[in-house]
Amino acid sequence: MIDRKYTAEVTSDDDGETVSVAGWAHEIRDLGGLTFVIVRDREGQVQVTFKEDDNEELFEKAQEIGKEDIIHVTGEVEETDQAPGDREIKPTSLEVISNASSPLPMDISKNIDSDLSTRLDNRFMDLRQPKTHAIFSLRSKAMQAMEEWFEEDGYINIDTPLISKGGAEGGAELFPVIYYEEEAFLSQSPQLYKQMLMAAGFDKVYETGTAFRAEEFATSRHVSEISMFDVELAFIEDHHDVMDVQEESLRYTLKQVRKKASRELDLLDVELDVPEEDFPRITFDRAREILKEEYGHVPEDLGDLDTKGEKLLGEHFEEKGHPAIFVVGYPGEKFYYMQEVEGDEVASRKFDLIYKGQELSSGGQRQHDLDTLEEWMERQDVDKSNFSFYLEAFKFGMPPHGGYGLGIDRMIQKIAELDNIKEAILFPRDPDRLTP
Ligand code: ATP
Ligand code: MG
Repeated sequence: MIDRKYTAEVTSDDDGETVSVAGWAHEIRDLGGLTFVIVRDREGQVQVTFKEDDNEELFEKAQEIGKEDIIHVTGEVEETDQAPGDREIKPTSLEVISNASSPLPMDISKNIDSDLSTRLDNRFMDLRQPKTHAIFSLRSKAMQAMEEWFEEDGYINIDTPLISKGGAEGGAELFPVIYYEEEAFLSQSPQLYKQMLMAAGFDKVYETGTAFRAEEFATSRHVSEISMFDVELAFIEDHHDVMDVQEESLRYTLKQVRKKASRELDLLDVELDVPEEDFPRITFDRAREILKEEYGHVPEDLGDLDTKGEKLLGEHFEEKGHPAIFVVGYPGEKFYYMQEVEGDEVASRKFDLIYKGQELSSGGQRQHDLDTLEEWMERQDVDKSNFSFYLEAFKFGMPPHGGYGLGIDRMIQKIAELDNIKEAILFPRDPDRLTP
């Protein structure tokens, strides 16, 4: 390894000591016999001061440094109130490791907010920006925390296929692929496989996976390729057991993010509240009532809350100190695998988690009775022959079970308070973007 420490590790402990750093030349300022170069790495920045009077040869070499060149510098650390971090490096050696062409595709040294499309076109460059980088450092820490919760609780980490014969939830949103001689589809959810693993006796599973949705959307919360966190657990009493898991794991994740990603949150200018109280669980009907009575808003689709509805509902509860709420009992006709509440033909044991005014996850108790499941599939005109491998799993002992799927990208968008979900994805895919 090249000898170096992260710029953020250059602290008062190093005053008077010799250190090496390596990184990109973020900014170069020329003041006659004095040249300041700000070296940036993923953890921060440090100033290197080249003085003609101190070392003429090195000073001459420094004149060749261009913006975003990668340099390796060794020198003595000195305290100063003139530099970021209150210290600078007085160099004794300089190596230019890699040159950056000019002009740069975008200027990242100033706080110029390029539009999102330019940023995404030049994503590798955009990702060098400390603020953009912070999103993905935060994301990494959030997912580590999330998985930690499930590992601690005895869940099994699974991987399910991304190519399948049919989709769990219907044809229109599926991307077709050519699979040898036949047509297949990219997975839109691991739903069927999670359930089959309940029949396999896995009891509790989670998956950090990918899902594809071929929707023609143009919103700030939809993409075509999604990172999904999926959970399924067996031997539940009802959907409240599933909500308990979703609630506790999210609370833990937020807590860990606040603790372990405080630098990232600062950079993103986000103050993250961790909801300590129980997340309110309100019925779908109550949600519509609140929207109508308090905001005069009536979502058109009788079986759903629309974007505006979710946003208003989010505001309504956030004002009361609840950034996260469950809306429970969506009308049941949508998915055949969801369970109905006994004696209630329309409500189902389905729930959505709304976090900061946006749907983060959908879940519920599943149907585990084969006869009922088949009846529902028929009622919904689902071609059962495509699902025989799935239905087989219900014939030989299937415990009551439930679970949910959480959009990881949306969760990061909401935690980091980003306007657009694509900012939370390294290389996002949407109907208009297949590169980079
Ligand atoms: P929406 O109604 O917001 O389009 P959905 O109800 O169709 O979402 P689900 O099938 O319930 O989505 O998927 C579970 C979770 O996956 C959602 O709650 C969301 O967080 C995420 N998700 C679904 N579709 C997308 C998408 N196109 N882009 C980003 N995230 C998505
Ligand atoms: Mg949903």
